[in-house]
Amino acid sequence: MMPNTLAPEEHVLSTLERDGSRRWLFPSLSKGYFLHRRRIVGYGLIALFVSLPHIMIHGKPAILLDVATRRFTLFGFTFLPTDTLLLALFMVSVFLTIFLMTALFGRVWCGWACPQTVYLELVFRPIERLFDGTAGRGGRPSKALSPWRRGAKYLVYLFLAFGLAHTFLAYFVGVERLSHWVRQSPTEHPIPFLIMAGTTIAMLFDFCFFREQLCLIACPYGRFQSVLLDRKSLIVAYDYKRGEPRGKVHKDLAILPAPAPAPSPAQGDCVDCGACVRTCPTGIDIRQGLQMECVNCTQCIDACDEIMTRLHRPKGLIRYSSQSSLERGSESDRPKWRPRLIVYPVVLGLVFGTFLYMLTQRLPFDATMLRQVGTPFTLTEAGDVRNSMKLKLVNRTDEPLDLSWRISSGDAVRFEGGIDHVRLAPNETVAQSLLVLAPRESFREGSRATELTISATGERERRMTWRLLGPIDR
Ligand code: SF4
Ligand code: SF4
Repeated sequence: MMPNTLAPEEHVLSTLERDGSRRWLFPSLSKGYFLHRRRIVGYGLIALFVSLPHIMIHGKPAILLDVATRRFTLFGFTFLPTDTLLLALFMVSVFLTIFLMTALFGRVWCGWACPQTVYLELVFRPIERLFDGTAGRGGRPSKALSPWRRGAKYLVYLFLAFGLAHTFLAYFVGVERLSHWVRQSPTEHPIPFLIMAGTTIAMLFDFCFFREQLCLIACPYGRFQSVLLDRKSLIVAYDYKRGEPRGKVHKDLAILPAPAPAPSPAQGDCVDCGACVRTCPTGIDIRQGLQMECVNCTQCIDACDEIMTRLHRPKGLIRYSSQSSLERGSESDRPKWRPRLIVYPVVLGLVFGTFLYMLTQRLPFDATMLRQVGTPFTLTEAGDVRNSMKLKLVNRTDEPLDLSWRISSGDAVRFEGGIDHVRLAPNETVAQSLLVLAPRESFREGSRATELTISATGERERRMTWRLLGPIDR
């Protein structure tokens, strides 16, 4: 502490000491109903994350985000950069789902499914407790770690981060290419190696040092909560009407004789034991009300339920409830009806329905008509207008594809020489040059519309309209 500065009266931030230094958190482990379920969900999600790149659907990985070739495969569907509308609809659907889930269940994502919480609380923290000598109970270790134990801990962290970074990379390059690369020297594929190394370092930094700070100061989702939550959203909350005024009942709850004396009318059920604070991975006191730092991990529920059980008092002093239920002392903690619970599902249904419809209506090829660089048009000796175009065709499938095209405007527009069909190899892209002729008198104010029909064998046709350029005749 600087000699001439005033000491703060209380902790301003849960992870900041009074002198401004970092307050390291060693949350105790509270076993109970919710931890058991969170472990099932969390380890299930980890298994899913590790196995998804290995699961094949129609001969492709379930998820492959091939940035280099700009092909994104999701559960058997391949998206190209030209699928902007589809991707936009999909992303809007994801955001609407988050809005709906938050309105219903609060920060259920943060506490139950966010990779940061899942890996920190269910993988890295248990390993740390193993080396700290606090396995199965958590809390601050009784003595400083010996250098070899500390080294061994970070070696295990490194090994884990290394494995996770490889799994992460597999989502972008596929497991086959990755397993081929790991048997070669990094100098043969330096960019992927650097990405993997950077991801490993970022994970080590996060899980060794940054930890809860990511939720507190870096994650934008936490900030969104202030607008996504309302007073009827389900949150992890302390029942202050039941708990206050708090007061100690016994020095050592572990040896409390049963049954505990009922609280006097002047005293609430909270015995101010601090178990809910000691177990909180973000270091806050839930009894101070809804706070942005709360990631809804439910550890304080399990901690308090254990205390209440020992005191022979009803569980649920801290529980899933809503601010409005707690204020009204309502019997039911279920999410309450409000207009957003109608609006979100309706809009979500419309957007996602449109996405599914467009997905099923997609053709096996992509076509784009581009104008060649240079002179916009030329005039032939016969007096026709010639436009030089480029037809870009993409085979979206993993099979060869025969494509043909014709002018379908129903007038004298035609191709000059060239070809009108092509065979594309699987996933191949070609750019076919086309010379298009049109009678000069068909142009109005220097342009005219023309329609091209492209068809693949045995598939629906695609019609596309574009404008030919010509002279502006008086
Ligand atoms: S664990 Fe329960 S009884 Fe103990 S301080 Fe927290 S709210 Fe009060
Ligand atoms: S207050 Fe409770 S639910 Fe919120 S982060 Fe802390 S322990 Fe988890």
